[in-house]
Amino acid sequence: MAVIGAGLAGLNAGRILSEYADVDVYESSAKGGLAGSFCTEDYCIEVFYHHFFRQDSYLIDLLGELKLRSRIVWNTSRVGQAFRGKIYPLNTPLEILRYPGMSLLDKIRLAKFTVSAKKKKYELFDNTGVIDGLKKDAGDRLIERFFLPLLKSKFGNNYSDVSYAWLLARVTLRSNRKLSGEELGYLKGGFHQLIDRLSDGLEIVGERAKVKKNGQWNVNGVDYDAVVFTAPLPELGELGRRMGIQDVRYQSSICLLISMDSPFTDDLYWINYDAEPFGATIEHTNFMPLEDYGEHLMYVASYTTPDRVHSLTDSEIFRLYLSALRKYGLDENSIKWWKVFRARFSGPVYEKNFRNKITPYRAAEGFYIAGMTSDTNYPERSMNGSLLAGKKAAEIILRDFSLL
Ligand SMILES: Cc1cc2nc3c(=O)[nH]c(=O)nc-3n(C[C@H](O)[C@H](O)[C@H](O)COP(=O)(O)OP(=O)(O)OC[C@H]3O[C@@H](n4cnc5c(N)ncnc54)[C@H](O)[C@@H]3O)c2cc1C
Repeated sequence: MAVIGAGLAGLNAGRILSEYADVDVYESSAKGGLAGSFCTEDYCIEVFYHHFFRQDSYLIDLLGELKLRSRIVWNTSRVGQAFRGKIYPLNTPLEILRYPGMSLLDKIRLAKFTVSAKKKKYELFDNTGVIDGLKKDAGDRLIERFFLPLLKSKFGNNYSDVSYAWLLARVTLRSNRKLSGEELGYLKGGFHQLIDRLSDGLEIVGERAKVKKNGQWNVNGVDYDAVVFTAPLPELGELGRRMGIQDVRYQSSICLLISMDSPFTDDLYWINYDAEPFGATIEHTNFMPLEDYGEHLMYVASYTTPDRVHSLTDSEIFRLYLSALRKYGLDENSIKWWKVFRARFSGPVYEKNFRNKITPYRAAEGFYIAGMTSDTNYPERSMNGSLLAGKKAAEIILRDFSLL
């Protein structure tokens, strides 16, 4: 059997299938995909910030199965918001009251919206546009002052096509807020340990896979009984259209990782920005202990579109982001090194009616699809969703081939 892509979906499918069959995993870049890591001599860190949630039960169980449960840590993450060149913490009721970017009335409206959103079944709002839904439930002022900047920083100019289901799911599924902040999970030492355990014993072929069907499924000249495709859908090309797979629009990501001698903020993990060339800073060493790394680490993250992801060089991105961060007090002299990471296909744009675009696990006889467009990743992709998609595809194959 062939698995295309050594991201979380592909590795988990490959790991399960390899207990019953010979498996080749094709990977055109580095194993781990979007959850891959960059390693210095002393430690590894994800190229894109990663954490998980209490609701990610399959991931948590799998970490147990792979003997990594003792590495799980749950820490409270403190968040902030940039407003007119200053950063405001937004965690405790007092901090929220003091935030000058919204009136008291808007803050009360937002709290009421959050309570009512949690009661809604997000699945029912798949064909409602996010702005239409918010107009009804939150009102124009909150849209303008609160939601629009967040939506723009996440989806760029595609924001108005996004479904209300996506936003409601973010509010309902992904908020585990305590009075002191939100509790998030991490794997002490980094997620590369998960990638290593998943890929242990797997045959990874370092090639970009090209699939053909001539009687049998053929990948780069080798015939297989079954193919599990976990790469972004545009990699399927014409074959996807012939199987009736719908086109999915993707967004892209750019992440600058900076190592510093001193912290950027005292204790904030995640800060949102609405008037900068990036959407958020994520100060990893305000979430995990500095001693684990020996230097302060911060991501500067932005979403963009596939056509623009390579429009700037690494140093142009660094200069652009740095000039904005200086306003908030980043000391250029404290920077030890920096690196830019990019992903052309970093997640689907969860547009209206996205449920119709969810890919089937069995797309044709012997051809299976799992990954960010699977049902387990609707209406937001995650590590948990892709691992689970890989498992579901593997189980269907094992049944189809009477291997279970
Ligand atoms: C900036 C950012 C932050 C994130 N933060 C979080 C987080 O905090 N928590 C969370 O749960 N999730 C987070 N995610 C999402 C999570 O990383 C993904 O949902 C998950 O890793 C996707 O796994 P996958 O296997 O489905 O896809 P991918 O990781 O995209 O894997 C697909 C693999 O296929 C390979 N490939 C592509 N084309 C070919 C080809 N033709 N032949 C062979 N190989 C090919 C790719 O190189 C890649 O390795 C984040 C993602 C990003 C971009």
